[in-house]
Amino acid sequence: MENKLDSGSIALFIGLLFLVALQLFWATPGVPPIAYSDFRRLLDAHEIDNLVISPTRITGELRSEQAKAALPASDAAALGGGPPPYTFSTIRVADDSLPVRLAAAGVRYSGTLDSNWAGSLLGWLAPLLLFMIVWQFMMRRGGGTRDFMGIGRSRAHVYVQRETGATFNDIAGIDEAKKELQQIVSFLCHPERYRRLGGKIPKGILIVGAPGTGKTLLAKALAGEAGVPFFSISGSSFVEMFVGVGAARVRDLFEQAQRQAPCIVFIDELDALGKVRGASPISGNDEREQTLNQLLVELDGFEANAGVILLAATNRPETLDPALLRPGRFDRHIAIDRPDLVGRRQILAVHTRKVPLAPDVDLEELAARTPGCVGADLANIVNEAALHAAEADRSSVAMADFDEAIDRALAGSERKSRVMNALEKLTIAYHEAGHALVAQSRAHCDPVKKVSIIPRGVAALGYTQQVPTEDRYVLRRSELLDRLDALLGGRVSEELVFGDASTGAENDLERATAMAWHMVARYGMSERIGLANCADDGVAHALGGAEGPRHGEHTAQCIDDEVRRLLNEAHERVARTLDDRREALDRIAKCLLDREVLEHDELVALIAGEPVQGDGAEARVREDTSGEGQSRRVERAA
Ligand code: ADP
Ligand code: ZN
Repeated sequence: MENKLDSGSIALFIGLLFLVALQLFWATPGVPPIAYSDFRRLLDAHEIDNLVISPTRITGELRSEQAKAALPASDAAALGGGPPPYTFSTIRVADDSLPVRLAAAGVRYSGTLDSNWAGSLLGWLAPLLLFMIVWQFMMRRGGGTRDFMGIGRSRAHVYVQRETGATFNDIAGIDEAKKELQQIVSFLCHPERYRRLGGKIPKGILIVGAPGTGKTLLAKALAGEAGVPFFSISGSSFVEMFVGVGAARVRDLFEQAQRQAPCIVFIDELDALGKVRGASPISGNDEREQTLNQLLVELDGFEANAGVILLAATNRPETLDPALLRPGRFDRHIAIDRPDLVGRRQILAVHTRKVPLAPDVDLEELAARTPGCVGADLANIVNEAALHAAEADRSSVAMADFDEAIDRALAGSERKSRVMNALEKLTIAYHEAGHALVAQSRAHCDPVKKVSIIPRGVAALGYTQQVPTEDRYVLRRSELLDRLDALLGGRVSEELVFGDASTGAENDLERATAMAWHMVARYGMSERIGLANCADDGVAHALGGAEGPRHGEHTAQCIDDEVRRLLNEAHERVARTLDDRREALDRIAKCLLDREVLEHDELVALIAGEPVQGDGAEARVREDTSGEGQSRRVERAA
């Protein structure tokens, strides 16, 4: 905030000073004052005339030179020389006898209101000015417009950075995202190369990831690598209390960005501004909608080749208005996951680059002890450790410092819940191994692309991601049954291994039940129910026009029974599969514990009982630090 004292507030300040001076000047009576007691005496002596009486002051004329001479010397001198009458004034004192005395003296007098216009003006303006100054101060605190008149101006130009100082070297563990952005750097640096062939440079890129996974860092590094200005602004700061201000800001932001093209505009917290519109028709947030609409207009308006690349970050892509994600807008998505073991090691390596480490520090082990931590957490841990070592006045940071730092970092309740204890980790490993093994053992299941036990999102503790080999529109019964098996794989594996069930399968069971219900009630895949479509939701109403389900109590009971039967049969099949292949299950689970993430090929090798390439995580890390790096891009969770 270097322009704290910009022209606007200086002008306001000077204006205020001026008014104060004016007030002081006018408040000083232009006529010399005399004491009230003197005034009364002179009044009784009939030496006074032509009085003007205001609520605070009495002004009048002194008739004679003798009267003046009777005054104290200093007052008399103040009245000045020359012939009478002399104008004087006195401060009015509460005096009930005044009207009587005035009448007795027979002087001419009139009343007046306080004629001190400057004073009253100040009384008006001072609070107003004060308000404006406070307002301005607050606006600046919230990100800062440049001056009061420029409410609609974007704060982006306050935040435009010529050099972000960040490079891709500062980012680790998210190589796939890096690679995608590197391509964009080349768009920005050599636009003609792409334009010549009629290619369109992407306009909007949405970076999706949990807080602290490095989204901002990535955007900054992009600007740094491309050597272009970096505008950054937060979605929440667009939405002001006045309707229309946000929209004006968006317009201004894009105007400025286009003037400085090529450049990068980064909107953090896009969800604050891009939430689905019209969720509540009555109390809809007009301001936010207007702002969002303006953003859409600008997105459509600027030419993709103009050299402005818009990056936005969010950790809740599902809340975004679909209009934002349409082609030509934020149509490129880059997902950043929580880093896995290897990623965490690499991030720790980046952040310990400038930290002198004691020989006992093992980054490998530190990475293993911080599952679920994101880049920001790791950066914080390194910093805490360094501070701890400095406190003890040591010249290098030792493992004990890191212990302390990790404990401190994980002390936050939120973090703690994300970092699993050993038993939980084992449970999740077997759960995911079960999903993966069953999916791989079924002829009709999509191949497993990736298995992970890194916590992600709020609910999911691990995940098994299957990627269809082709788009499917129609599924056969055998395929649905296989999918059902894969869904139950996690739960059954837990039962088999631990003889106990955990809550981790809730979502699986919900999906499995829904699938079984659809098979029975909608798809006519159960002999007992036959071909009748028993869906009792909106569709049935639309068709039959009648209220309530189209089937009786008995049929409802049958559907329930059939769903249960399907699930039980699937359970049995899965139990048999996992029992038969228990060794493979153990191998997968163990490897998952070691590495946290398994790719398709590794999984296949494990199932086949073959040695996995680069056995053990250490080997892989070594290979990583020397070579290309283990890169992974993660699509939406399956
Ligand atoms: P986000 O924008 O996703 O909330 P940031 O980009 O602000 O996260 O990350 C905060 C800090 O965490 C960064 O400044 C950096 O020090 C550290 N950090 C996060 N991710 C990484 C990473 N992949 N590699 C190196 N440092 C990282
Ligand atoms: Zn599961």
